[in-house]
Amino acid sequence: VWDGSVTDAENSITELAALAETAGSQVLEGLIQRRGRPDPATYIGRGKVAELGDVVVSTGADTVICDGELSPSQLRNLEQSVNVKVIDRTALILDIFAQHAKSKEGKAQVELAQLEYLLPRLRGWGEALSRQAGGSARVGGAGGGVGLRGPGETKLETDRRRIRTRIARLRREIKGMRTVRQTKRSRRARNAVPAVAIAGYTNAGKSSLLNRLTGAGVLVEDALFATLDPTTRRAHAADGRVYTLSDTVGFVRHLPHQIVEAFRSTLEEVADADLVVHVVDGAHPDPEEQVRAVREVLTEVGADSVPELLVVNKIDAADEETLLRLKRLWPDAVFVSARAARGIEGLRGAIEARLPRPAVELRVTLP
Ligand code: GDP
Repeated sequence: VWDGSVTDAENSITELAALAETAGSQVLEGLIQRRGRPDPATYIGRGKVAELGDVVVSTGADTVICDGELSPSQLRNLEQSVNVKVIDRTALILDIFAQHAKSKEGKAQVELAQLEYLLPRLRGWGEALSRQAGGSARVGGAGGGVGLRGPGETKLETDRRRIRTRIARLRREIKGMRTVRQTKRSRRARNAVPAVAIAGYTNAGKSSLLNRLTGAGVLVEDALFATLDPTTRRAHAADGRVYTLSDTVGFVRHLPHQIVEAFRSTLEEVADADLVVHVVDGAHPDPEEQVRAVREVLTEVGADSVPELLVVNKIDAADEETLLRLKRLWPDAVFVSARAARGIEGLRGAIEARLPRPAVELRVTLP
């Protein structure tokens, strides 16, 4: 459902399809509806629901993915109308994060985000049964089916309590892990090793660049979200100085708030960096929009005061006209291709020139 330009809607749907493929789905068909705001009951309008139902039948799809966040009741109503599983962008992104999280902290953060998403969407079997009966079992009181309500609600309450306990425990664990990381960070500050954070939209080529700059052998995937846990490598400057280079989580349009919250601590490291290398995909249809989205998140986590070096990547795949436009728009940016190894030495030089100068220690020995 989209109110803006058709191109924006198409870009967003293309990205959603790429996300779905990353999660292991096969995408069959895309539907866009232009309307002021989502239908409160079914997200898409009534006519579109019927069209969607036909598409589900003709393609044999087993899942519908909505490019937005559905309320619990919209989700239920849509599922009832089209008779297949319905998920939204948030659930899809959480699923991908869950598949890719590797570190203990990353896993805990994703589980926390998933449980917080799940809690208001839990349904007891009592309610499910009364739904199957077409609502006719819904007699009496507060809308629950008489006779069905007891056991259903008890089970639901137990589930909810279990989830709440688990959420509280995960929060405690994550807090502990954060303290450990902060200690590591202050040790780094004492050692005075300059830190460079590589940030950028998902799939911009951050891992590839990190590999080019350090020979790190980080996994590079042509999939969104290959990077979830930050990787840190040491690099040596031409003058012998040592600095660290860290990859950060990829950014994506409409990142679910549960995830922004969960990964805030990871992103906070960017705020402590001495330099942010902001990588943008020069071959993307809308690089400016990506830069805007990333800068917004950087501001949110308090990293907007860190000096930024903008790097336009994939110049091997971008057309000349776009590159000229981007050069005019961002005269201080460095243009590279991680894949074709073009401009890497220049980038290394640009990074090193922006590293803070080490404090000079002056010792005078008197006779
Ligand atoms: P990340 O998500 O930002 O870490 O991006 P990756 O480093 O995983 O790269 C995403 C995809 O873009 C991979 O398929 C890379 O091979 C591809 N890629 C990275 N750099 C370049 C480049 O300079 N040119 C082209 N054509 N593709 C690139």
